[in-house]
Amino acid sequence: RAKASGKNKYMFYAAKMSDVEDEKHFLEGELSKALQNEELVLHYQPQVDLATKRIVGFEALLRWHHPKLGLVSPASFIPLAEETGLIIPMGEWIIRTACKQAATWRDGGYELKVGVNLSPLQFNQSNLVGLIAHILKETKLPPHLLDLEITEGIAMKKEEQVIKKLHQLKELGVQISIDDFGTGYSSLSYLTKYPIHTLKIAREFIREIGTSRQEEAIISSIVMMAKNLGLTVIAEGVETNVQWQFLEKQDCDHIQGFYISKPIPETEIIALLQKSEAHYG
Ligand code: C2E
Ligand code: MG
Ligand code: MG
Ligand code: MG
Repeated sequence: RAKASGKNKYMFYAAKMSDVEDEKHFLEGELSKALQNEELVLHYQPQVDLATKRIVGFEALLRWHHPKLGLVSPASFIPLAEETGLIIPMGEWIIRTACKQAATWRDGGYELKVGVNLSPLQFNQSNLVGLIAHILKETKLPPHLLDLEITEGIAMKKEEQVIKKLHQLKELGVQISIDDFGTGYSSLSYLTKYPIHTLKIAREFIREIGTSRQEEAIISSIVMMAKNLGLTVIAEGVETNVQWQFLEKQDCDHIQGFYISKPIPETEIIALLQKSEAHYG
């Protein structure tokens, strides 16, 4: 009996393992067609200035509408896109689409920033600076309206190359944000070496506002440090009024999160801008 069940157990794991492999293979194949099949779309999440209560920009967040699987979360396919290199052509589409979108807002009288997430492979691609320069020219978007989000993970590796590239991007006039700040186990010394504009405080800290004095202390310290370094600071993942109030009291610059709005399709943006002007402004 024991032997039989042991064997079954093994077969169970073996079957599981190949399912996972099969699924990965399947997704990989599907993902490689997603771009040309126009299954990718960007949603946009607003960022609000706490002093003026105005929307100052939107973060572009990738969505994959698969015809059979439905909406696939970026957390599950970005790592695969990164692993397969598909993130390179996808990333070019993302930057171009986001810049076009921000240029359209501007034509409509809304001067708003657009945030674009860069994965490590994308950041390290050798023609990144040229590509961005080209897209800015093509879309006529003023460079300061493009905000590139990188994680501390990128900042840690190959320091000299990273500094050089960040300076080239700065020269273009685009802005650089550190995404998920505080979760990357990296040293703080890069904050003075790298030409960055913004720290985005990770949701992991914001979530604990009202429940953990320690997390609150970390947030206050990050805000104060950012101010002293002349950086802008944004809180990510703001979901409640309590969090909003706390961040406002700390003099945090901007907030982003479900409390204001979930990421929305481009068709809903103008309505949100009109509503928010009436509501916050
Ligand atoms: P991220 O850049 O840190 O983006 C924030 C994530 O938190 C988004 O998830 C957003 O929908 C979610 N979020 C925003 N506000 C709240 C809130 O109040 N509560 C909660 N619980 N969640 C909130 P999403 O869109 O699923 O994206 C997940 C991650 O996938 C992103 O994290 C980013 O690392 C990556 N990603 C998304 N779009 C792109 C892209 O275009 N390119 C690259 N390279 N990565 C992307
Ligand atoms: Mg981000
Ligand atoms: Mg983030
Ligand atoms: Mg992230």
